[in-house]
Amino acid sequence: MSQNLEDCLFCKIASGAIPADIVYEDDDLIAFNDIHPQAPVHILIIPKRHVSTLNDLNGDTGVVSELSHRATILARDAGIDEAGFRILMNCNPQGGQTVYHIHMHLLGGKQLGALC
Ligand code: AMP
Ligand code: ZN
Repeated sequence: MSQNLEDCLFCKIASGAIPADIVYEDDDLIAFNDIHPQAPVHILIIPKRHVSTLNDLNGDTGVVSELSHRATILARDAGIDEAGFRILMNCNPQGGQTVYHIHMHLLGGKQLGALC
């Protein structure tokens, strides 16, 4: 699966063309609250650089490390680090991916259920 960058929702959020409830931003990453939260804390962390799916990383594992590192800091900031939280990334249709710009979900603030 791939997506034209000009049509990519998360590229538009990263560039500021579309507003989002941003909770963190640096040169490489941006994090914002999910528009349809599945838990009291539901933050999406994305690279500003467009990558459509996990299959397109081509060995650039640093991106996922940066996303997960930032997720742990945001979890601490949200006060859910000790109680616990979940990070996850969906890939392609059967994995549940609906936006084709890689993103990490940070979920917490309640007892989370089974994965699927
Ligand atoms: P996924 O299903 O893993 O591709 O996750 C995409 C997520 O993006 C979903 O949880 C959506 O609720 C969320 N989402 C879609 N549009 C927006 C938006 N404009 N702002 C914030 N989150 C969004
Ligand atoms: Zn994009």
